[in-house]
Amino acid sequence: MAELIIMPKLGFNMSEGKIVKWYKREGETVKKGEPFFSVETDKTNIDIEATADGVIRKLFLEEGDKLPVTLPIAIVGAEGEDIDYLLDEAEKQLGKNVSAPTKAAEQSKEAPGKESSGYDYDVVVLGGGPGGYVAAIKAAQAGKKTAIVEKDHFGGTCLNAGCIPTKALLRSVQSLKEIKDAASYGIEGLDVSGVTLNMSKVQARKSNIISQLVRGVEGLLAGNGVKVYRGKGVIKDNHRIQVGEEFITAEYIIIATGSEVKSLPIPVDGGMKMLTSNEALNLEEIPKSIVVIGGGVIGIEFAYFLACAGSKVTVVEFLDRILPMLDEEITDQVAQMLRELGIEIHTGAKVTEVTKDAVVFEKGGSVYKQETDYVLMAVGRVPNLAGVPCEALGIKTERGAIVTGDTLKTSVDNIYAIGDVNGKAMLAHVASMEAVVAVKDICGEEARMDYDKVPSAIYVSPEIASVGLTESQARSKYGDIKVGRFPLLANGKAKVEGEERGLVKVIVEPKFNEILGIHLYCAHATEMIAEAVSAMKLEGTAEEMAMVIHPHPTVSEALMEAFEAAVDKAVHFL
Ligand code: FAD
Repeated sequence: MAELIIMPKLGFNMSEGKIVKWYKREGETVKKGEPFFSVETDKTNIDIEATADGVIRKLFLEEGDKLPVTLPIAIVGAEGEDIDYLLDEAEKQLGKNVSAPTKAAEQSKEAPGKESSGYDYDVVVLGGGPGGYVAAIKAAQAGKKTAIVEKDHFGGTCLNAGCIPTKALLRSVQSLKEIKDAASYGIEGLDVSGVTLNMSKVQARKSNIISQLVRGVEGLLAGNGVKVYRGKGVIKDNHRIQVGEEFITAEYIIIATGSEVKSLPIPVDGGMKMLTSNEALNLEEIPKSIVVIGGGVIGIEFAYFLACAGSKVTVVEFLDRILPMLDEEITDQVAQMLRELGIEIHTGAKVTEVTKDAVVFEKGGSVYKQETDYVLMAVGRVPNLAGVPCEALGIKTERGAIVTGDTLKTSVDNIYAIGDVNGKAMLAHVASMEAVVAVKDICGEEARMDYDKVPSAIYVSPEIASVGLTESQARSKYGDIKVGRFPLLANGKAKVEGEERGLVKVIVEPKFNEILGIHLYCAHATEMIAEAVSAMKLEGTAEEMAMVIHPHPTVSEALMEAFEAAVDKAVHFL
């Protein structure tokens, strides 16, 4: 009996396939097990064998055509057999997909060659943060005549006022903590009572790290032949940018202007020492007391740093838990650790006013007044659109962020927007990968962002890192799921390191053991998460991950055991 052959789904994430080759043509016979056609997925080409003997009665696609998975691509049947009903069915299914089959040739845009495009540059990048400088370097490496415009310091928020300076400060308190804990490792003779942070020296170390890295970025830009324009860039039209008195033109523009600190619209007394993350990074003394408004990643990293450095810290969070993006179980454990450090946490609390000596907030119908020397406003960041007149350019925005698809193109064909300015995931590693994808798209190469597999990391101790769905997100999406847990107190290396607190938790889809989420709260979590992201990206299953040999003793064994717990039973935990 004749059958419809469909575009096979050859991986969890495969949404469409391209016919690279038909090994059999219409009218030819095919035997079960013989190569029938070759499909290109986002990873590789795979030869598909015929599942039955028959004659190729109809091929719906030509070589090079693409089609979403599960739609009909061919009919195989007996010679002379009536296949009209299958043709009708195929037409119905393909008709619904007006865009399919699409000719790859039609989709692929002409990649501009190395020859001059008639503009000053093939690509101009606006902003030199981890999005912008990576885009400029990749474009130059791809042979594009490239320029970058930066109004301040290369490395953007990440190197100068974000990822790197916060981690430098946190490294200093980590050392302080280890010295104070020295006795528990058998070290005697230290009088740790007077051990404290010298903030000038801590700041000097931080500044030295930053300047080395910023110089490194400048060197990379120069070494790759990127022309640097210093000053604020303003996009004048789709191909023209003004920097100071100068105008430069570009075939493609990549907007990478980042984000800026957001504030709450509440009355603030001028007598209070108000900080944003920018000022908090440059403190020359540790405040006696501080209220951190906002329990997100930035607020919690500062709260942890300041509490370890000796400050009396209070966190006030509007939502019903701190770090709301994390798996609930991990948040609970982190909140417990922070409370043990002496941090007071108020959740479900709405800050209404900052007076000259206190933060006023409402919680559960009552009004509280928390006295404090300093306040850190850490309520998030907003895209920075200065220099980007979106409306005039026809660039679509939503809630203050530039709208982009998974190739990072804006609503204007030759303009891309990467990093914080598109508001998708305000993380440096996302900005950098978006840069790579945008440049590939400009060069006519196939590349798309996969926002489902973005890791996030929080540098308290133990560290926190996660990727994918939390348990509750997975339950609401998939219903029944498998959850594998492994507590760090059952891990040998965690004991050796003196950091037994924490949990590794994996979320697994029950039918195919697809990995949906991985949540780490343990020493080295921010390094270990790369293994988790690779496993998901390469579509490893929980069973396969449980069979990956992990070196012993390592904290990473806890991940293997959590996978074992999800699909069977962990060895080292009952
Ligand atoms: P940015 O890094 O903000 O760079 C934008 C650049 O564009 C800036 O240099 C700016 O001067 C320039 N610019 C803007 N407008 C113009 C113009 N008109 N003309 C010329 N130049 C212009 N992310 C992580 O992944 N991990 C972390 O641990 C982490 N920690 C953080 C801690 C803090 C305190 C903060 C504030 C952020 C942190 N982030 C972290 C977020 C991270 O810094 C950002 O996601 C990242 O820097 C975004 O990169 P970007 O290239 O989009 O923008």
